[in-house]
Amino acid sequence: ERVEFVEYFNQVIDRFEMNKDENVTFVRHLPKKKMYVWIDKDKITQVLDNVISNAIKYSPEGGTIRFEAYSTKKQMRVTIADEGIGMPADTVDKIFDRFYRVDKSRARQMGGTGLGLAIAREMIDAHHGKIWAESQEGKGTTILFTLPLMSQKRRGNHE
Ligand code: ATP
Ligand code: MG
Repeated sequence: ERVEFVEYFNQVIDRFEMNKDENVTFVRHLPKKKMYVWIDKDKITQVLDNVISNAIKYSPEGGTIRFEAYSTKKQMRVTIADEGIGMPADTVDKIFDRFYRVDKSRARQMGGTGLGLAIAREMIDAHHGKIWAESQEGKGTTILFTLPLMSQKRRGNHE
């Protein structure tokens, strides 16, 4: 379906902000202009839910999570950045593999299956986007993904 991403992203973040009891601060850098994407909302919600819950799960007390979205010519890019434990450089690609978890003992304690990001990558691939991570051990992790913007023509057809 046709979705205005900024409004939708705000609603997803709101839901987490209302329910969180962890001591983390949310900061949003979202554009004022509208960004239309053609997405399966349930599937992209699954992606965001996992990425945001990971960010919360691995954030330190008092940490900040930054949400950004912006558009380039034909794409929009979303970044979700935390100030958490991060991970070694050689693992940032592996976290998208099924059942991969950075530190087995730490991960077990945290709960979960290690499937969240593998599913996220499948969903974003199916939408012709890309998803990847940047991280520094001890400093934090940023998850980035892109989605194609709807063309002006297509957008018009649905308005
Ligand atoms: P599930 O999502 O199935 O509940 P999970 O969160 O462990 O389990 P993924 O979401 O796929 O699985 O993440 C895989 C692994 O990547 C995590 O176990 C963790 O080691 C690492 N990881 C993911 N996000 C972060 C993050 N924001 N900071 C630090 N490590 C992360
Ligand atoms: Mg997860």
